[in-house]
Amino acid sequence: MTKRAGGGGGGGGRGGHRVGTLAVHGGMDRSVRDIDAPVVQPLFQSVNYIQEIGTADGLLYPRYGNTPNAEVVQRRIAALERAEAAVLLASGQGATACALLSLLRPGDHIVASAWIYGGTRQLLEQEFAPLGIDVTLVDPMEPRVWRKATRKQTRVIFVESPTNPTCRVMDIDALSAVTKQSGIALVVDATFASPVNFRPLEHGADVSIHSATKYLNGHHDLLGGVVSGTAPYVEEVRRKMMLWGQVPDPFACWLLERGLKTLEVRLLRQNDNAMQVARWAEGRKEMKAVAYPGLESHPDHEVAARQLDGFGGMLGLELAGGARATERFLRRLKLFRHASSLGGVDSLVSEPRFTSHAGLSASERARAGVPDGFLRLSVGIEAAEDLIGDLEQALH
Ligand code: PLP
Repeated sequence: MTKRAGGGGGGGGRGGHRVGTLAVHGGMDRSVRDIDAPVVQPLFQSVNYIQEIGTADGLLYPRYGNTPNAEVVQRRIAALERAEAAVLLASGQGATACALLSLLRPGDHIVASAWIYGGTRQLLEQEFAPLGIDVTLVDPMEPRVWRKATRKQTRVIFVESPTNPTCRVMDIDALSAVTKQSGIALVVDATFASPVNFRPLEHGADVSIHSATKYLNGHHDLLGGVVSGTAPYVEEVRRKMMLWGQVPDPFACWLLERGLKTLEVRLLRQNDNAMQVARWAEGRKEMKAVAYPGLESHPDHEVAARQLDGFGGMLGLELAGGARATERFLRRLKLFRHASSLGGVDSLVSEPRFTSHAGLSASERARAGVPDGFLRLSVGIEAAEDLIGDLEQALH
């Protein structure tokens, strides 16, 4: 069964508080008894702050990422990620762009997994080459692929884990042994896991990225992204964010701080729900394949069991009847709603051939493990019996 990050399992470590506690209090000094202080962090919906006269020091401005609602979230995420520092940006896409541009210069080379979010792939393929940054995309599961693909100019290896939508899990311990030996920065987009299930820095990665739009916020109502790492590196990402204007609004920061408080309880429920849905789907003749790292049948089950504190709320289902059966199934679902994002409290379902994999031909999609008939489920916090009931009635 799913391991529990807030109980006896991972998420504690290094003598600090556990994930569930950090999600509520991380980055705050709770030893101060400030009588009459609000329990909830107030929203400072202001772009201007009174400044000291006669000095440039201490200037607060939302685009600098240093106003109160941004700072509390940044400290909290750094605590959750076990990082020296974190910075909150306007979107996951903005986070990836600023994180990578803080590591790469013209003439440098990046090796990236080909199994990444479509927007990230477009960023690398369409935007980095004109900047003089060479990009190599590789099949991340091919043996010795990273050593083969790196060269003298390689500065970054970039992976997503678990991957979208087949939920493949990279062995970050093994990969970080390669990057450490060759002085390459290992950057991991762990959006699908959230810090409850996986904290890349604990496994030797240098940088962790999340689309906060997904699990970190968890309520389908804001766009954001975070980058965590060493303090000097995060300062450089913050500088890029400020100059390229990739900054969240104070209200988005406030909403994210509220969303984070329930991060662990949401994820524990989503881990359990997804496991129950996966076990149910495995037993159905209408399913040709079920992609969930918690199942023994998943190709990366062993790595997932070793590295993750929970197997996640995302899973892939391949219906035996192909595209026609899938469309019929989607039209009959009532609780699972057809929408392309993920990681929130409401269960969602999407068809990668019309979203993340729309740019590929049918045979390319099949080779990527996403044949026609493949559905991606983002399992929410509803009662598992009801979710399974919904899926079951849609099959009839
Ligand atoms: N990383 C992953 C794994 C994603 O799935 C997404 C979006 O779907 C992003 C990054 C980009 O995040 P955003 O939509 O917040 O810009």
